[in-house]
Amino acid sequence: MILYNSLGQTKQEFVPHEGNKVNMYTCGPTVYHYAHIGNLRTYIMEDVLEKYLRFAGYDVKRVMNITDVGHLSSDADTGEDKMLAGAKREHKSVMEIAKFYTDAFFSDCEKLNIKRPDVVEPATNCIAEFIQMISVLLEKGYAYIAGGNVYFDTSKLDTYYVFGNMNEEDLAVGVRDSVEEDENKRNKTDFVLWFTKSKFDSQELKWESPWGLGYPGWHIECSSISCKHCGEYLDIHCGGIDNAFPHHTNEIAQSEAFLGHKWCNYWFHVLHLNDARGKMSKSKGDFLTVSLLESKGYNPLVYRMFCLQSHYRKPLTFSYESLDNTAKAYDKLIKRIASLGTDGGVEQDKADALIAAFKEALDNDLNTSLALTSVYDVLKADTNDATKRYVLAEIDKVLSLDLIQELPEEQPAGGDALSAEIEALIAQRSEARANKDWATADAIRDKLKEMHVVLLDTKDGVSWKIEN
Ligand code: AMP
Ligand code: ZN
Repeated sequence: MILYNSLGQTKQEFVPHEGNKVNMYTCGPTVYHYAHIGNLRTYIMEDVLEKYLRFAGYDVKRVMNITDVGHLSSDADTGEDKMLAGAKREHKSVMEIAKFYTDAFFSDCEKLNIKRPDVVEPATNCIAEFIQMISVLLEKGYAYIAGGNVYFDTSKLDTYYVFGNMNEEDLAVGVRDSVEEDENKRNKTDFVLWFTKSKFDSQELKWESPWGLGYPGWHIECSSISCKHCGEYLDIHCGGIDNAFPHHTNEIAQSEAFLGHKWCNYWFHVLHLNDARGKMSKSKGDFLTVSLLESKGYNPLVYRMFCLQSHYRKPLTFSYESLDNTAKAYDKLIKRIASLGTDGGVEQDKADALIAAFKEALDNDLNTSLALTSVYDVLKADTNDATKRYVLAEIDKVLSLDLIQELPEEQPAGGDALSAEIEALIAQRSEARANKDWATADAIRDKLKEMHVVLLDTKDGVSWKIEN
């Protein structure tokens, strides 16, 4: 498989560190609010990547953290903890907020057919591991204590800006904070590993540490949780593009200083979902959620398909008009697949060729829009319906669009009650015929005729349809 690697900014052949084992790490949500559909774009594309790697035969272990502490409202180590702000907003405790929004996140994921990672680890479970990693960074001279906090010393690195193509504005996030400049930092790009002194003293969750009662910085949690579950070598690290700097840049700094060697080989970044106002963001408050789409009558899988129609490395703009188009296409596609028959055996050669075309699309830097096209190619292919069904079921192991559904028979107006009445009349007619009561049988047939019901006597019994 060829993947674009943000580290090196080129498309590269994906080769795991060890055999066919893939250690995959995903930055999880900060659980102070619902995930918006922008966040979920990132998780959908990561889900496709994970499922495709499995489909291609890799043995994947996927780990995700839950950020329930340490993510401040500014990426420059300033501002209030987002979790605390969320708790205050809702007059609840931080842990109550964390539980509520973690559950809400996984419920959204379920609706979008996003698989739960093999390991899900809340940051607050791993304080001992963070303290251990920070202690090693201090021992190795990569960290220093100033003003009660522990900082990572970026001047100790050969290269700090590892994702060289970041634009100036993105890079400035960590260093532009002139108003709130932290006097303790030796270099502007240094960042906090452990806080004991913060202007926001009302911090609810604090832990004992060798440096005093405090709480971890945001970046250390991902370095530490990844090492805890994936060991010293990570194959692929995922996240939205906004995480590349400073979060992932700082993760690499910490992990490699701690381990003493290269840590992660491939960095997979998903570009943003934008709305009319620009990047969709939780801190803007009024954002789109899966529940909101559902309340407007959209099947969440329509949003999944909407995401798959675009390449993950292109920004995607959301509009209801585009979502409506996807909804129509999804509906049509599902109906077309449902109408496929089941007769005949699978023509394996033809199935293999169709699956190969699908794989070719995803092998080329996870080209999901081309992979979707191959679904339509299957429907048009010169093979029997059983083969088409088989191939579509295989493809859906990766796309997870619930492509194969048994749709209920279209009911006439009046629905179930009318059907029940018709069935009852047919049963009475059959009984009359069995009793050779031709007059009653004919009367019932006439009544059904008035109702526009046409009876079809088949070898399996009587079936019916409504003809207008
Ligand atoms: P957060 O809950 O803010 O920590 O973000 C969770 C994930 O969503 C991270 O991987 C972010 O990079 C990603 N993300 C945030 N905003 C967007 C957006 N508008 N479009 C796509 N991904 C996003
Ligand atoms: Zn992270």
